[in-house]
Amino acid sequence: VEYYLDNIQQKQHLNAFLEVWPDEARAQADAVDAKLQAGTAGKLAGMVIGLKDVLAYKDHALQSSSHILDGFRSLFTGTAVQRLLDEDAILIGRQNCDEFAMGASNETSYFGPVRNELDTDRVSGGSSGGSAVAVQADLCLASIGSDTGGSVRQPAAFCGVVGFKPTYSRISRYGLIAYASSFDQIGTLTRSVEDAALLLEVMAGADNFDSTVSHHPVPAYSQQLEPAAQYRIGYIKDCLERPGLNEEIKAATEEALDLLRSQGHVVEAVDFPYLDYIVPTYYILTTAEASSNLGRYDGVKFGYRAPDATDLESLYKKTRAQGFGPEVQRRILLGTFVLSADYYDAYYTKAQQVRRLIKEKTDELLRQYDFLVLPTTPTTAFHIGDVNKDTLAMYLADIFTVQASLAGVPAISVPAGTDSEGLPIGLQLLAGAFREEHLLAFANSIA
Ligand code: GLN
Repeated sequence: VEYYLDNIQQKQHLNAFLEVWPDEARAQADAVDAKLQAGTAGKLAGMVIGLKDVLAYKDHALQSSSHILDGFRSLFTGTAVQRLLDEDAILIGRQNCDEFAMGASNETSYFGPVRNELDTDRVSGGSSGGSAVAVQADLCLASIGSDTGGSVRQPAAFCGVVGFKPTYSRISRYGLIAYASSFDQIGTLTRSVEDAALLLEVMAGADNFDSTVSHHPVPAYSQQLEPAAQYRIGYIKDCLERPGLNEEIKAATEEALDLLRSQGHVVEAVDFPYLDYIVPTYYILTTAEASSNLGRYDGVKFGYRAPDATDLESLYKKTRAQGFGPEVQRRILLGTFVLSADYYDAYYTKAQQVRRLIKEKTDELLRQYDFLVLPTTPTTAFHIGDVNKDTLAMYLADIFTVQASLAGVPAISVPAGTDSEGLPIGLQLLAGAFREEHLLAFANSIA
């Protein structure tokens, strides 16, 4: 704990943590010590973990890196976080992220961007940027983030760490601030696949507080990391031919595929006809869900309240205009538009239908193949300020991560070397729903 507190202190310029809990972490460490002596310590004893600012932890500030939740403290602890505590994890602080997890660079945070430790002029990725940099810069052993369309995998790729998103519904969302509820999933940022497996094993499983959570039994993922001798691996040809894909990332992906082939795995190119539709479908559906989920922030119940309101309507308007940043406002407007009576069928219903096609095709491929392998991102970490100016470019950069999110299948980004400038490259692996134990074993063998 002292080691990490020291690092956090020395690396404040990275802006990864919004708040640190030194006294509590020390007290938890002492308690864990005593349990270790007594032989009663839990599975995560001594693991120092940071929480993305979207996870409820009783009596701790919680604000999704948004001005609109200023001063809000959580009244309860979410299920996943409680399970970490029950296994004696030590929680060290709250991590910066994009506002309401909307973004891919951590630049939409009310608290400013997180800096990539490898080059502090570059972004961390997002939205779990603080969580990724915290692991990259050794500010904690592991971070718990959330992934709606790539938010643990993309920053993991930019920071050279492991980012893992389980199957939709594998981990209870009770206590996770909602962005797009049919996509949101808690995920992890770690140094090793083994740590990701251990954390999943602790957090996953049935929960009376989330009616959508899966009741599938939870295997001992961390004990099943032995890979099979031969897998069937598919890769989507068009992903590698995509304009805008960085040549070095393309080469690293091809190299990884060649290596797998040389190791005796079956590696085949597959067709996926919907590549052009996945980003639009994702943004129509997630903005629609977000516009509804964020309706609750009205200045009455949570956090910030505009001081100059004159009546109820002006309270709503002023609070939301002052409290939400531009990206969140843009998405609420877009989501409200696609849900409006005149456009509902043209956009929202259509996008639901396309999501179904994407899911069915992805599931079919993941029945034919054990895994799909693709890049995590089209580029390496870009400069702070570069893409944030161009909203559409930022959305399009989610091309490789949102397929797994639309389909609800598990996906992991593992480090796959660096480019000629020394910037990390991520390789992404997808598996069929609830095949985490195979995905993690395979990822562990190549990470
Ligand atoms: N970049 C994507 C978005 O802005 C993903 C965010 C996320 O997974 N939370 O929606």
